[in-house]
Amino acid sequence: MNLAPSAIPDIVFVPAGEIIFRQGADGDCGYLIEDGVVEIIVEGDVPRSVGFRSQGELIGEMAIVHGGKRFATIVAQTDCRLMHISAERILRCLDGADPILRMVVDTLLERLRAMLHDRFDGSTSLGPDIAARQSIILQAVEQIRRERDFRHALERGEVTLHFQPIVALADGAVVGFEGLARWRHPERGMISPGEFIPLAEASGMIGVLTRHCMEQAVKALHFLDDGDDGGSRPPLFVNVNVSSHDLVDPAFADYLVAFVERWPIARGRLKIEITESALMSDPEQALSTLRLCRTIGIGVAIDDFGTGYSSLSYLHRLPIDVLKIDQSFIRGMAADVHSAKIVRTILRLAEEIGVPVVSEGLEVPAEVLALTRMGCALGQGYHFARPMTLEDAGVFVTTWPAMAVAEPLVA
Ligand code: C2E
Ligand code: CA
Ligand code: CA
Repeated sequence: MNLAPSAIPDIVFVPAGEIIFRQGADGDCGYLIEDGVVEIIVEGDVPRSVGFRSQGELIGEMAIVHGGKRFATIVAQTDCRLMHISAERILRCLDGADPILRMVVDTLLERLRAMLHDRFDGSTSLGPDIAARQSIILQAVEQIRRERDFRHALERGEVTLHFQPIVALADGAVVGFEGLARWRHPERGMISPGEFIPLAEASGMIGVLTRHCMEQAVKALHFLDDGDDGGSRPPLFVNVNVSSHDLVDPAFADYLVAFVERWPIARGRLKIEITESALMSDPEQALSTLRLCRTIGIGVAIDDFGTGYSSLSYLHRLPIDVLKIDQSFIRGMAADVHSAKIVRTILRLAEEIGVPVVSEGLEVPAEVLALTRMGCALGQGYHFARPMTLEDAGVFVTTWPAMAVAEPLVA
């Protein structure tokens, strides 16, 4: 039967007795058997059966990854329903995959191909060329090197939290800080979290990093308390960013319990920030971790709010303390009405569920003014201050002229 690529639907029906594909034919897809049984036949002077595959098994898998010739003929033994998986689809996944995973998949396939090539007198292709393979290996080596560097950086204390103030928009008072990780590399200088967080997540080091940040946040709370001005201002809070990987890791929940036993902190003074998309990756586990946070007195801020797809009914179920509006909406407000509408909707939504909102990325007075007028309680951004070292944060809280920020707002 002729399964021309353009005519291939997602599901292919093949009647009993028909050939699904023939040995030596060009292949650019595999099939997952949804229903039925197929026989694998290796052609030669005397064709021989080398096995059967049935429901839930994959056939034509070699072509999925590298294309090339089919190395066996597959015949439907019963009426079959097959799900078509194109090589292009898999290659797209592999292109975006972790370089180490790509190297492993590529190496395994290469060995299998070499084996089949010998066995079938060169009738199977040898896969991608040497230059392409070398590039895959180089990327993997680079990834391994960067992961090792990051592990050492954590051990050597090169990764620390910097602190960016969060300000009450009504009077400009500093109410807390967000802790943002920084890697001070001995040769490369300051490396941004945008670079090393994905590295930490891919290498399984994110849990260690998060724990490190939580502990630094507690130290920061104590440090900022020490510089307190005799109790005239309410205690500050510190927020720590937590990755989606932490949220779905049951060991992280155990860690949180042990954490508050070891460092008792007043309710709400430490919050975790989690993105909306992190919540959606495993909503039930996320909910259970957030409920635990509520029980043990750790607050929860939903970060980058507006960029995900949480429904109102889902938000209602979550024990949330703060919503943080993603800075892209703040940035967009001046240029398009759409962003302003989203900001208004988020503010209404937050009011509905009874939580305050932090506007992120406030850079200019006009943004501060607009958000204040819209009734947003809290703000964060370069307009107030960039993330700074703990020592600088200590100085900041004592020297920050709160009303100087509020004054232009009423002008
Ligand atoms: P985020 O949690 O949304 O953090 C806010 C980011 O916006 C920070 O970038 C901050 O420096 C930046 N920012 C603050 N105010 C302004 C402003 O007015 N304008 C602009 N353009 N940017 C502003 P940063 O520190 O580079 O962090 C980037 C992201 O990396 C964070 O986004 C967060 O998702 C992640 N991250 C940072 N530290 C940690 C950490 O300790 N753990 C985890 N899991 N993720 C972290
Ligand atoms: Ca954050
Ligand atoms: Ca954010």
